[in-house]
This record gives sequence, C-alpha cells and structure tokens, in this order.
Amino acid sequence: MKDQILGLHHITAIAGDAQRNHDFYSRVLGLRFLKKTVNFDDPGTYHFYFGDEIGSAGTILTFFPWSHVHAGRRGPGQATEIGYSVPAGSFDFWMKRFDEHGVTYSKPAEKFGEPYLTFLDPDGLKLELTVSKTPDPRTPWTTAEVGPAVALRGFHHVTLTLASAKATAQILTEVFGYTLQEQHVNRFRYATDAVPGAAALVDLVEAPGESPAVTAGGTVHHVAFRVPDDATLLRFREIIVRRGLSITPQIDRQYFHSLYFREPGGVLFEIATDNPGFMVDEPLAELGTHLLLPPQHEARRAQIEAHLPVIR
Ligand code: ZN
Repeated sequence: MKDQILGLHHITAIAGDAQRNHDFYSRVLGLRFLKKTVNFDDPGTYHFYFGDEIGSAGTILTFFPWSHVHAGRRGPGQATEIGYSVPAGSFDFWMKRFDEHGVTYSKPAEKFGEPYLTFLDPDGLKLELTVSKTPDPRTPWTTAEVGPAVALRGFHHVTLTLASAKATAQILTEVFGYTLQEQHVNRFRYATDAVPGAAALVDLVEAPGESPAVTAGGTVHHVAFRVPDDATLLRFREIIVRRGLSITPQIDRQYFHSLYFREPGGVLFEIATDNPGFMVDEPLAELGTHLLLPPQHEARRAQIEAHLPVIR
C-alpha cells in the first residue's frame, strides 16, 4: 500500500517574551504546557511545546521564544494561519475571554460552510477557532477556566500562502496522499482521509501580488507532517529525493524523528514520527514541569539554565 501522511504532526512558530508566550497558550487558551526544553540547534533559547494531555500529533504547537526578536510579516512562502478545532457554541465564551485578556479578534465569519473566529496571539501570530462540519472525536486538555464544552481539540487546518499553489499542491497530492476537497476563489482546501477528523486539512491560498513573507516574531517557522514510524519516514525521504528536492538526513528531536525540506512554494516542511513521544524523559503527570535537555547539551546544564529566563 502506498504510504500516506497521517495529518499534521506539529507547527512551530517564533515568539518574543517567553513568559508571555507561556501564559497565553497555557492559561488564556488552556492548552497543556507539555515540554520545556531548548532549541537543540541554539540551546540558549527555549523550545516550548503546547498540546493535549500526551502531546498527540495534530495538537502540538511549539515556539522558539526569542526575547528581542523583531516582528515578522505574513506573506507568500509561509504558513499564515493556524486553525484550531472547537465545539459548536463555544465562540461566545472565547470572545468574552479574549475581551477580558485584551486579545485582538475579528467577528465570526464562515468559510467552506464552517464558522470561524480569527484572533492574534501577543506576538501577532494569526490563529483561528473553527467549528468543524465533521465530528471531531479528540479529547481536549481542560483547565479550571477552559472546560470540555469550549476547549481546543487540536488543529483543524493550517493555511499556506503561496505566490502560486501548483507545485505545493503537487507535493500534497502526489507525495503526501492528500486530495483537493474544496475551492473558493484563491483558497484550495486539501485533505487526507488517513485518520478521520484529526488535523487532516491544509489550505493553500494563492496571493501572487503580495510581498514575500519575513519569518521572525509572530510568524510560523515550519509545519510538520505526521508519519507513524522511522521506516515510513525513510520511505518518504527516498520519494522526496527522487523528485529532486533537497532534504536533511533523519534528525533525532528527542520526542520524534524528523526530516526537513523546503517545498517548492517556499514553506519549510518537516516530516515527523509518532515515536518515541513526550513521555520519553518525563512521566505523564509531570510533563512540562522540568527543564529538559537532550543528551548532547546535558553537560552544559548549569550554564544553559543560568542564561534562560525563569518561567512561572
Ligand atoms: Zn518541528
């Protein structure tokens, strides 16, 4: 059987102040703070992970908080919207909560027959809450303030803005196993049916006249797609190499194994495995409570810890 991408794995974006980023996602949005680690390629910077209870693929949003980062700009060659799935009837709760916390949002609208509410995080990252027309079976992480009737279920879709959608669409359909589901004006919605209802959608928006994206604060760094295991990961590597695209070797990201390549529209894609998962270095009940370093940086722990801001 032909290999298929199972949906989104995680999305990684760039933030400014670490504490502000932590508070917005874990407190205002009520996601689980899953992992406090460092950028493995730049261990003087945090890498934060937010998601559901166990960090299921398709729920994981991660950040590199760089305190003095300049603001980026959304545009072609970038993932420009992160859509979360929420239950019907939850928008009133969210608009009231956004008012209370000074969050910028737009009044609800609809696309492809689904209501959505757009808002910005404190760094200007564009997010959406969408009520999916297909049932979302995922169990959300909940908090005292964000209960099960309103909590974010995980990703609904990610939107990629492109000067031209064609070459990116070919990667989605010919390599990843997605199909075109709907189209409206310059927005093309692709879906995978590999895992029903779970982070299965990618929207491509064609914006040929817009200034190219600047990847910095408040923008997405890369989008990761999900595969079950290392063997599948390496088969995808072969397929992408055969298409003439450059792709990294397999990289150990401690919680998953990854490949990175820039798709022809300019967006940095990653393919990441389900294994080994977030309990590899912390028990379930303690996820997010320790500063975790990969083995290659453990010897410098004292120095790294002294340099990072304390998160409360
Ligand atoms: Zn990643």
